[in-house]
Amino acid sequence: LRKASGVIGSGLLAASLPLGALAQEKKAEPSKAPEQKDKKPEVEFRKLGRTGLMVTTVSMGVMNCSDPAVVRRAYDLGINFFDTAHTYMGGKNEVMVGEVLKDVRDKVCIETKVHQASESEMMGLFETSLQRLKMDHVEMLLIHGLDSAAAVNDEKIIGFLEKAKKQGKARFTGFSTHSSVAECLKAAAASKKHDVILAAYNFKSGADVKEAIAACVRAGIGIIGMKTLAGGYADSGFKGLSAHQAALKWVLQDTNVACAIPGVRSIKEIEELAVLMGKKMTAGDYKTLEGYERAFAQQLCSMCGTCAGQCPYGVPVQDVMRSLMYYEGYKDIDLARTTYAALARRAPLAQCGDCASCPVRCANRLAVQSRMRSALRYLG
Ligand code: SF4
Ligand code: SF4
Repeated sequence: LRKASGVIGSGLLAASLPLGALAQEKKAEPSKAPEQKDKKPEVEFRKLGRTGLMVTTVSMGVMNCSDPAVVRRAYDLGINFFDTAHTYMGGKNEVMVGEVLKDVRDKVCIETKVHQASESEMMGLFETSLQRLKMDHVEMLLIHGLDSAAAVNDEKIIGFLEKAKKQGKARFTGFSTHSSVAECLKAAAASKKHDVILAAYNFKSGADVKEAIAACVRAGIGIIGMKTLAGGYADSGFKGLSAHQAALKWVLQDTNVACAIPGVRSIKEIEELAVLMGKKMTAGDYKTLEGYERAFAQQLCSMCGTCAGQCPYGVPVQDVMRSLMYYEGYKDIDLARTTYAALARRAPLAQCGDCASCPVRCANRLAVQSRMRSALRYLG
């Protein structure tokens, strides 16, 4: 039973993970918020594809979090999978993850990511990540943000990932994708070179993404959902996390998704999301999502990729929309500016301020030029 997908039960974490002698470990004390230590949600696990790892359906994206107590609270709630990356917070994010979880290392899955570069550069970045984490290996090493079938099948990338595995520095490998998601997933399902994929997936995603996820699972690839909160917008009358809870439940009702990694920053947020493990969508949740979609209709980019290649100047509209989402939705100004600056190094984003009109047509009828100009104003 414990090996099956969808195991639910408080305290099953230790017995369910093939990550070492977990059952013998004592429960660690939370570093803060002791008054909340007895509040424990039911913990639900799913198998992460051929890795065989049992991960908590609600896991943690640490990207936006600089508070060690939040990471520790997530662990104390039973969450066993933590996502970080070489670039997050200039490396401080990896340092914090390693420090907070060092005494429970064999109870958790750690995933980090590096950007595409030459093979030796990627290995250098990854080794720095391991040093920051103070770990000799991670469960998962991913390449950041692949956006085409060609990148998914890139021999340089595959060669680097294989090498990291052979050297014992990563148990499993794969990539993340938030542009041309369906194309990347389909390419991975066909090539079977990747163990896991971290894919942007939410209630705004198209049917093609859902189908491609299913194809990956049939090919043995473990799927981790990200960007599950569709922007994390929290104004316009949406109090608390109700819309975010509904959005997360929507993703997890697709059992092809092993886990989701909502990016949380506070103990309150992780507690409000951790309790969703094993919970089904309700009619009220669908209604909430409809309201959220209506309220943010002018901002929600579904990351469908339809606009790719339409700008005659080469502006990557979808990626700029994502920067804006970090700014307006996540309210993470540093992340928004860093992402936008990286895009500006390879495309003339300032051109959006000069075009008399914009020929780019968005499948969701977003006002592309106006959104591009907002990004330029806030982030340029
Ligand atoms: S406003 Fe101009 S530069 Fe910007 S996306 Fe449209 S066509 Fe491209
Ligand atoms: S901007 Fe529009 S067309 Fe482009 S990815 Fe977003 S929703 Fe799709």
